[in-house]
Amino acid sequence: MTKEFIRSIKGTQDILPDQSQRWQALETTIRNTMDTYGYGEIRTPAFERTELFASVGEGTDIVSKEMYSWTDQGGENLTLKPELTAPVVRSFIQNNLGGQSPMNKLYYIDALFRRERPQKGRYRQFHQFGIEAFGSEHPEMDAEVIALALAVFNDIGLEGLTLKLNSIGSSECRSNYRNTLRDFLKPHINDLSETSQNRFENNPLRILDTKAPHEIEILKNAPNISDSWTAEDKAHFEEVCFLLDTLGIQYSLASNLVRGLDYYTRTTFEITSTALGAQDAICGGGRYDGLVETLGGKPTPGIGFAAGMERILLALGDDDSSGNPTQVYIVGLGDGARPSVAKLAEDLRQNNIRTDFDPLRRSIKAQMREANKSGATIAVIIGDKELESGQAEIKDLKTGDQEPVKIKALVDHINSLTL
Ligand code: AMP
Repeated sequence: MTKEFIRSIKGTQDILPDQSQRWQALETTIRNTMDTYGYGEIRTPAFERTELFASVGEGTDIVSKEMYSWTDQGGENLTLKPELTAPVVRSFIQNNLGGQSPMNKLYYIDALFRRERPQKGRYRQFHQFGIEAFGSEHPEMDAEVIALALAVFNDIGLEGLTLKLNSIGSSECRSNYRNTLRDFLKPHINDLSETSQNRFENNPLRILDTKAPHEIEILKNAPNISDSWTAEDKAHFEEVCFLLDTLGIQYSLASNLVRGLDYYTRTTFEITSTALGAQDAICGGGRYDGLVETLGGKPTPGIGFAAGMERILLALGDDDSSGNPTQVYIVGLGDGARPSVAKLAEDLRQNNIRTDFDPLRRSIKAQMREANKSGATIAVIIGDKELESGQAEIKDLKTGDQEPVKIKALVDHINSLTL
């Protein structure tokens, strides 16, 4: 490798063919499950105006520290998407999807960009799949969204999952709870970190997200947000729980699972995996009945989740299934056979037979070695003699048996074998 070699950016990964098979399997599972649940795919641009993300995530780490933003040649402030909810809501409003149908169920599979400190399970370019469902404020929507996330994870074979569930109530509930929480934290204010002290004034709910052990200790005795629920919030949450029970979905109640942003409402959930280390969150989601309005649309209830695909594959562990092997390997004998090898390979491939040959012009011995290595079940051998007779030798690579077959009849012959 030369000294000037230009490496990839820290926190980004190449997905090579031995891994892309696993990605494709995951993507296929996601697409099939989304289809079954009635969700349609939405694809939004890789970059948006910076203010789109800033207006929904003000004060969050993502917006304040982690965005890849720049000013382009025309002076516009742009950002590579660090999350998908804001772009999807933007598109929902811009394309008047709400005007066309009272219910819109959208899903995405996409790459995101955040300038985080890279570690196992945390990257600067990573992938999420997720959904956003607009139109219904009712608990059956919450239950469907949670069931859908779990259905994908079950189908792909993830085990050891925990669903944590909470409700952060309506905005009325949260404004009461903010005061209750401030009253509780006031005597401890000097023990809080600088970040938490700042949050105390602006957004005390976010203090509940702390990872600092001494703050977690203090918060153990904090009042629960459930004490501030309105009667409607309580009824909504109880119905979500009842529906999950009805669907046979297990969950644990997590009163500290909150989201600090104002447009989030009621149900919040997170799915974690015991197969992962420190970064054990696979999926986060919840209701955001205030978001469409925040971004300039007509008030529309919404709920969604986003799940990290690298984490799902990490949690699944290594899998040595290496995709579909070659079925037929063509071995060419001598220069004269080369065009016939290329033509035969093309004919077989046009007939959906996975075929390969040696483009390195190696010896017969080396080609036979490749044939065996390729995983092919049969080798088709053609040389001058075979061309003259219009027949090729077919060798069963398992048994070593060999028989002549007319070149013209090869496709039918191969199709009659179960490869
Ligand atoms: P968030 O959009 O932050 O709510 O994250 C949703 C999910 O995306 C998380 O549960 C993770 O599985 C995944 N995720 C978030 N950030 C990263 C990252 N930097 N690298 C890999 N996966 C991530």
